[in-house]
Amino acid sequence: MPDKKMPWIDFRSDTVTWPTVKMRQAMAAADVGDDVYGEDSTVIRLEELSAERLGKEAGLFIPSGTMGNLVAVLTHCGRGDEVILGDISHTFVYEAGGISALGGIFPHTLPNQPDGSLRLDDIKDAIRMDNVHFPKTRLVILENTHNRCGGAVLDAAYTSKVAEIAHQAGFSLHLDGARIFNAAVALGVDVKTLTQPADSITFCLSKALCAPVGSVLCGSAEFIHQARRIRKQVGGGMRQAGILAAAGIIAIQEMVDQLAADHLRARRLAEGLSDIPGLLLDDGPPLTNMVYVNLGGDVKRNAAEVAEAIQKQGIRVGVINPRRFRLVTHYWIDDEAVEKVIKAFQAVLKA
Ligand SMILES: *Cc1c(COP(=O)(O)O)cnc(C)c1O
Repeated sequence: MPDKKMPWIDFRSDTVTWPTVKMRQAMAAADVGDDVYGEDSTVIRLEELSAERLGKEAGLFIPSGTMGNLVAVLTHCGRGDEVILGDISHTFVYEAGGISALGGIFPHTLPNQPDGSLRLDDIKDAIRMDNVHFPKTRLVILENTHNRCGGAVLDAAYTSKVAEIAHQAGFSLHLDGARIFNAAVALGVDVKTLTQPADSITFCLSKALCAPVGSVLCGSAEFIHQARRIRKQVGGGMRQAGILAAAGIIAIQEMVDQLAADHLRARRLAEGLSDIPGLLLDDGPPLTNMVYVNLGGDVKRNAAEVAEAIQKQGIRVGVINPRRFRLVTHYWIDDEAVEKVIKAFQAVLKA
């Protein structure tokens, strides 16, 4: 049986990916149990497989990446504690302020550099002295790949340096690794080298890996033991979740290798778009599966209007702000779709 075909071409995100036929078949056939009782063998297998793949002791299946980061932060920190994170990080920008709203946790933002990093000196300067005036620094969060920084990749050496600073000062490093497999593939390294320095990591099954739902939080056995209670507290305890985990197992076992093709297509897409008058690409070729592109100053229409005209041709692109688009490549985007969207931009901007 071939994959079902999407009735449109969707570049808005890699979250739009549908599960593959193999996933749908595995889901239908999955062994299940009550996972809150610890009795779903498929969930247990996904958690073990994830932990092994990332070089951690244990894993925890979580309904979303946002909840994965929330559970991680709530496990590391208590009320009034401080988290150091990037000013355009996913946790700061796109998670509805959950760490503060639900955890009373104080965000200390540092400027994200264009390569997705936080400056090491900025991190050192942000660490609080032990003094009644200050909150306690408990955690630093890195994001790899970095969404708002164009899918930028943090390497193992940098990640280790941040971990060293944190550990020397007595706090932890959490890695928001929603797309950590994209980073590993882009760098051509075992993903473990990127996750090893971190105390905890969240990665998404539901993005370019095509599973319909879910993320996995990984860390030490003790950390995951505590995180399991927090997941229940925020309403993330699931029952016969093996149906979902079955797709996640295939995501990890079979979908990682195709990420390199997504990255190649992103480069071709950037190349094609860069030739179109009226479009301005960010500097340098895309490193992973995202292409950010701006409208030039002489284009009268705004990004939403251009996107609407492109959608009339059955192609969806992401609008980030009135002058900026994001296009993401993934399993459901083939070479033909890349050429089609380039042609669509050409036609719409010429009109
Ligand atoms: C997508 C994403 C998440 C989690 O998002 P969910 O939609 O809640 O699964 C977290 N961090 C980054 C960097 C992401 O891109």
